[in-house]
Amino acid sequence: MNVSFYGHVRQYESIKDEIDSNMREVLMSGKYVLGPMLSRFEAEAAKYFGTKHAIGLGNGTDAIWLALMALNIGPGDEVITHPNTFFATAEAIWIAGAKCVFVDCDPKTRNINPDKIERAINKRTKAIIPVHLYGQCADMPRIKAIADKHKLAVIEDNAQGIDGRGDTFKQGELSDAMATSFIIQKNLGCFGDGGMLVTNRDDINEKVRKLRNHGSAQRDHHSFGFNSRLDDIQAAVLSAKLKHITAWTDRRRALAARYTAGLRKPKHFTLPYEVPGYRHVYHLYILETKLAEDRDGFVKFLNDHGVDAKTHYSIPIHKQDGYPWGKKARIVGSVRNAEKNAASVVSLPMFPELTEQEVDYVVEQCLAWDRAHA
Ligand SMILES: *Cc1c(COP(=O)(O)O)cnc(C)c1O
Repeated sequence: MNVSFYGHVRQYESIKDEIDSNMREVLMSGKYVLGPMLSRFEAEAAKYFGTKHAIGLGNGTDAIWLALMALNIGPGDEVITHPNTFFATAEAIWIAGAKCVFVDCDPKTRNINPDKIERAINKRTKAIIPVHLYGQCADMPRIKAIADKHKLAVIEDNAQGIDGRGDTFKQGELSDAMATSFIIQKNLGCFGDGGMLVTNRDDINEKVRKLRNHGSAQRDHHSFGFNSRLDDIQAAVLSAKLKHITAWTDRRRALAARYTAGLRKPKHFTLPYEVPGYRHVYHLYILETKLAEDRDGFVKFLNDHGVDAKTHYSIPIHKQDGYPWGKKARIVGSVRNAEKNAASVVSLPMFPELTEQEVDYVVEQCLAWDRAHA
């Protein structure tokens, strides 16, 4: 059996009529950029997230750095995050011109460890960017308390966590702004690139709306800006898909439970940790080999047996080449857990259209590898 990592076409086929009809509506309207479909999707998204504003943007990376720019965070400023995330989290900080300050992740949740944040704060610190990594919310109440105490902004990187929540909090509730990505492989994916910033702050909304459109809120009037708009065809796809996100998340959670039940008590790898009371949306279902040296062999074994397993992410950002670290980034304390994470993670296929038979086959292969290492 072959089990692929993504189910893009299966998803399209499952709601083809809704997507096609929305797309046809845009095509026949002749309004493809900043048109009525974008406004409609922005209104639907704001309602869904429970935020005052939702701004459609070109991609998720832009959403993060445009938020930083709207908060006047740039050269000379520092922004705290953790290094075991997708590269774009740090990249957005660099695009804004600020310095990226890495602290370690929590070994169980792999999200930023709130205990490590305060010692990284100095007079140049302006913001914290927690990532809801793999689909589980970061500890927002503690992060927000630290930010308030030191008068820092918080921008949630929610590219991986859409439709999740904490035990006592919602996404987007305890931050100044929340960025998300709609690139196809994310839990809510369009047919190309897309992103969004949601916020309850009128000032951020106003600035980002201008920044995404050449600094223009009114025809022929411009201030400094860029071009980063979610186009109406993508908004049409997303408007159709947003109606299904809760059911898709429930399905991901059911498949994750099936993986966890099937993989029970492996000797050579560990299963994902779910914070009690949180809604983990399983953007990724991540195993961790107990020994780092086992990881590549495990992935190869799965690949050789038809399972498209991957790694997210095998090189932590501070180990990537090509950046002048002294000026652009610094590490505070040990980032041992982030490094261990990078060395030992294995991502199994996880998407709502995955079948039970496929999950059971992947489980079988994982257990076969585990036994072979006994
Ligand atoms: C995907 C992703 C981004 C960037 O989103 P793009 O739309 O690809 O720019 C940022 N942060 C995280 C954690 C991501 O997974």
